[in-house]
Amino acid sequence: MSTNEALFERAQKTIPGGVNSPVRAFKSVGGAPRFIERANGPFMWDAEGKRYIDYIGSWGPMILGHNHPAVIEAVEKAVTKGLSFGAATEGEIEIAEEVCSIMPNIEQVRFVSSGTEAGMSAIRLARGYTGRNKIVKFEGCYHGHSDSLLVKAGSGLLTFGNPSSSGVPVGTTEHTLVLEYNNPQQLHDCFRQFGDDIACVIVEAVAGNMNMIPATQEFMDTMRALCTQYGALLIVDEVMTGFRVALKGAQSLYNVQPDITMLGKVIGGGLPVAAFGGRKEVMSKIAPLGSVYQAGTLSGNPVAVACGMATLKEIQKPGFYEALSAQTQKLTKGLTEVAQQAGVDFCTRSIGGMMGLFFLPELPNGFNDVMKCDPAVFGTFFNAMLDRGVYLAPSIFEAGFVSAAHTDEVIEETLTAARESFALLNR
Ligand SMILES: *Cc1c(COP(=O)(O)O)cnc(C)c1O
Repeated sequence: MSTNEALFERAQKTIPGGVNSPVRAFKSVGGAPRFIERANGPFMWDAEGKRYIDYIGSWGPMILGHNHPAVIEAVEKAVTKGLSFGAATEGEIEIAEEVCSIMPNIEQVRFVSSGTEAGMSAIRLARGYTGRNKIVKFEGCYHGHSDSLLVKAGSGLLTFGNPSSSGVPVGTTEHTLVLEYNNPQQLHDCFRQFGDDIACVIVEAVAGNMNMIPATQEFMDTMRALCTQYGALLIVDEVMTGFRVALKGAQSLYNVQPDITMLGKVIGGGLPVAAFGGRKEVMSKIAPLGSVYQAGTLSGNPVAVACGMATLKEIQKPGFYEALSAQTQKLTKGLTEVAQQAGVDFCTRSIGGMMGLFFLPELPNGFNDVMKCDPAVFGTFFNAMLDRGVYLAPSIFEAGFVSAAHTDEVIEETLTAARESFALLNR
């Protein structure tokens, strides 16, 4: 048996930093990342055989819990027919029809393999459709790692952003405007100045990449109205929130109608599927019908769409979201109580099966508020929970996820671990 330490050592020889996605490296909380060997229901087991209650759920997709029998059966059935054809299949039509029937603002949908691809392609489509270059994004929102989105806010209001990663030429981000989340006034100012050149606004209606910050209704309404007024497209990125905060996504909670919706994570049920869709009139601008190029060797992969389709069927069963929300609230309420008893500044929020945990005296409403969380306090709590078999997201900037497999018993076990872990903070 290999230890996590030994595997991490070994991994670092052939994989940069030992991981294939940076947040997995546990850099902000310290220690060796856990190398997961298998998972079932709400649990994962690492290479040392230690069991964890999983509140990451593969960063969102595992809304049914791990190894859901209906999903596994669908995947096994698909696998025996062949892994990939690079040709059209009926399974792609079925999942496209399913997505269009669930999401009222999607008439046509194009499948891709990652949220990054969905974001990159949606922006290209918006630029192609409008014939404009500028895009607006918000500080703290994440839409994948394509070049034009790796931007940090400029020095002043309405200055264009600078690349937030090396390897991104300034020229690539010069058309990206970065505004403050939940600030309708900045949106007004921005459109007044640049409105006729703006191709799209891209937003997470419930932001899940600066922990969890819901947009205000006014913010979403202002964005929709300005996009309509100036002929820009509104892209709502539901890669995290789609089928997660509610069946029809965050857009249904705000009653906002995006021109393009991005989907990912839950839509693949754990295999690489993402998508972007909208009105037929917009979507018909994509190749092969239109002049906006977009392609993918493994797009709509038959095994992946079978997995996604089985997941979408399960989440539409009556009472699914009521039960998921209730379990999530049971957990967040319980954590708040336990923290209070320990005298720790801590608060939570949740929508559907998504939650935010904050070491703050009051709930944050934007990126700057989240930045006030003390990473050292979080790191102590995170590691204490991990020791006690509870696997939380290893960063103050990540949301948490509860699945349909998280029973009362599992939540009780989590709260027991939390009671001990919060107590350590006030020593
Ligand atoms: C995860 C995520 C993405 C990127 O998806 P990948 O599949 O990791 O490329 C984009 N937008 C949001 C809101 C996400 O949470």
